[in-house]
Amino acid sequence: MDSETAKNMKPESLMMSYGYKPELSEGAVKCPIFQTSTFVFKSAEEGKAFFEVAYGLRNAQEGEELGLIYSRINNPVLEILENRLTLWDGAEDCAVFESGMSAITTVLLEFLKPGDMLLISNPLYGGSDHFIKKILPKFGIEVIDFKVGQCKEDIIKIIDASDHADKLAFVYIETPANPTNDLIDIACSKEIAMHYSAKYQKEIYLAVDNTYMGPLWQHPLKHGADLVLYSATKYIGGHSDVIAGACLGSKALIKRVKGLRTFLGSMAGPNTGWLLLRSLETLKARMDIQAFNANKVAAFLTGHPRVEKVYFPGNLTEKDGEQFVIKNKQCLTNGGMISFDVKGGEKEAFRFLNALKLIKLAVSLGSTESLAEHPATMTHSDVDAELKKEFSITEKMIRLSIGVENYEDIIFDLNQALEKTTS
Ligand SMILES: *Cc1c(COP(=O)(O)O)cnc(C)c1O
Repeated sequence: MDSETAKNMKPESLMMSYGYKPELSEGAVKCPIFQTSTFVFKSAEEGKAFFEVAYGLRNAQEGEELGLIYSRINNPVLEILENRLTLWDGAEDCAVFESGMSAITTVLLEFLKPGDMLLISNPLYGGSDHFIKKILPKFGIEVIDFKVGQCKEDIIKIIDASDHADKLAFVYIETPANPTNDLIDIACSKEIAMHYSAKYQKEIYLAVDNTYMGPLWQHPLKHGADLVLYSATKYIGGHSDVIAGACLGSKALIKRVKGLRTFLGSMAGPNTGWLLLRSLETLKARMDIQAFNANKVAAFLTGHPRVEKVYFPGNLTEKDGEQFVIKNKQCLTNGGMISFDVKGGEKEAFRFLNALKLIKLAVSLGSTESLAEHPATMTHSDVDAELKKEFSITEKMIRLSIGVENYEDIIFDLNQALEKTTS
């Protein structure tokens, strides 16, 4: 298919074919797994030319593509996957990684250096929180954070009060926040980056961890983000059978990200790449059902006599002020993640979890099967006790990842397990 035709089609229509040429693979309708570490050059001159482009010794000429060299630098499966992933976010380029954490850490290491200050939203995914607060400071990087509900003026005040406002180098946010579904305003975060970019005459980029809503339900690049990050282990992989990550953005920024990826060696291998190609074919179908099911489940939980509170973007109303405004501005659906507080405490929450029959008791999210877990003692057990309290991550909270089962069966299971919380 020519690129003009492809441009007019929806991403879900292109996930089976985009970027793959059967004639280069014996006519195979599916992209084979190129299980090879290295690639044969046609001539020494060709090898020299490939390396010149790969290592940035010269710019590629018009129409010259990066040749295949070695699978730490590039592999056909990974390149096709990266091209397909750009379609959902409307990104120029993409880099795929062996895990979400390797995508996140590679980006932070590429755009920060000793003496810099990093601005983050709170709360963050536990692994990101650990790397940013416990490991980056070892490299002389200072971290400053803001919380849900703080507006642009509040945040600028915090940064100015730090006395190192001139050191601000990068902004990193996660929205919706895990596990509370609190929303952070992407466009506003970009305005903060731009405020200090203008003031100190330097580029300050904004990266958004879009794992909870992406790549279908929220498109951060369209709201001003410079980079989008994914744990592709979640919705993109979608079958709880692969660990992977991705970063998307402009050609220029992804070139930098891929540059460091080559030297950290954090690219995904061909098997991981191939599993993700297969997953992408059903991404839209899966996520449509998950969002549909989540609305049904949230409606069931809301007002249930054994449920105290439901944390779900679909439950926001005008009364919620800014959160409602942000949702309407940047979220295309209510997502597939629901947290709720059972009436009681850890004992009731555990009784509920242990009574589930269809829904599996496991961390992770975005997969075909519904999952339930206890953030306070599982995914967020490492978070500071004070912060946990502040973010309402209490012992009565349960986090659900809604799968593609029939919603009536999910609700049946939740209902019978909720009944067991008081016995
Ligand atoms: C799971 C997750 C990550 C980490 O991804 P891995 O693939 O497990 O390395 C990062 N951010 C969010 C929001 C996640 O849910």
